[in-house]
Amino acid sequence: MVATGAQIPRYARDDRLSPIPRPPSPVSYEIAACIVCGHTDADVVADADQIRAEVEALWAYHQKRLKPNTPPERLVDRVAFSEPPPFRLVRCNECGLLYRNPVERSHELTEIYARNTSTPDVLRALHDTQLPAVRIQARELRRALGRGGSGLEVGSYVGAFLAAARDEGLQVQGLDVNADVNAFTRSMGFTVHDGELANFATDQTFDAVAIWNTFDQLADPRGALHAAGKLLRDRGILAVRVPNGAFYAAARRALTKGNRVSRATARALLAQNNLLTFPYRWGFTPRSLTRLLSETGFAVQRVRGDVLVPTADRWTRPWARVEEILIKRAIALGASLADSRAPWFEVYAALASRV
Ligand SMILES: [Zn+2]
Repeated sequence: MVATGAQIPRYARDDRLSPIPRPPSPVSYEIAACIVCGHTDADVVADADQIRAEVEALWAYHQKRLKPNTPPERLVDRVAFSEPPPFRLVRCNECGLLYRNPVERSHELTEIYARNTSTPDVLRALHDTQLPAVRIQARELRRALGRGGSGLEVGSYVGAFLAAARDEGLQVQGLDVNADVNAFTRSMGFTVHDGELANFATDQTFDAVAIWNTFDQLADPRGALHAAGKLLRDRGILAVRVPNGAFYAAARRALTKGNRVSRATARALLAQNNLLTFPYRWGFTPRSLTRLLSETGFAVQRVRGDVLVPTADRWTRPWARVEEILIKRAIALGASLADSRAPWFEVYAALASRV
């Protein structure tokens, strides 16, 4: 894919639809155990045939909703993700984590993201379109801290969250593997470090560490939480945002066993939240992420359910734009009743002990 300027929709932040080449193929697989609890007892949630059917459904879903003159690359933007579809998805019977089994052998995500370059105009447009959505996260982080303070955002990209945080009285620095994008973000007046969490060395400690966008794709989430803990002051806040594996599993059940209406509804819910074909490495659930956090020294203070930010753009047919708003309102209503049922969720956790 090629960056094509300001039309890149605002959801690029959530699903990283910015121009990212696929990992090298052919993909090789290995059998995996649950990374949260270590158990191997798991149920199949989606097998290879069902995943293939989801890939086809995803194309059909978006094709139908785009205007006839939509450039092909705009369709590709909606169906190609930084992670390829899984071979098979299972759910851990012990802790509820949804994961790929067999799993692709670790490819170097850092290299993929580090190659992603765009012009300053494109980056500025991305910054502007992402800003409204991340203001909620900045407010929530400030609320979790109970005051202003310092922070580090892992995967700061074009600096939208850094700007939103500054407006909330938080001084948040960025950390990102993409040196070119970091140069742009620095030009906007922010402090940004080149690199990644696992080997980020600094004498500073922070009141907060936020990982909004990459936690579900890390090869070693547990190691990332340990690294985040070392960067935090005592009682500092860690904020993480991930797709909800429990939401996918529930919708997948409806896709498999439901009648025609419930199948169509489940497909729409998954597609509208970029969960169809599950293009993520880990499907954390509020329960499994809480367990991993407590094992790495964190006490969860709050789980906040959410939907994906709107994805409609100038290529979306008008009826599909309305449909998206209605679907997301309905889910947001359900999510506010039970955060564990939302398609995406955020966790705010305090560093309780150093393990
Ligand atoms: Zn488990």
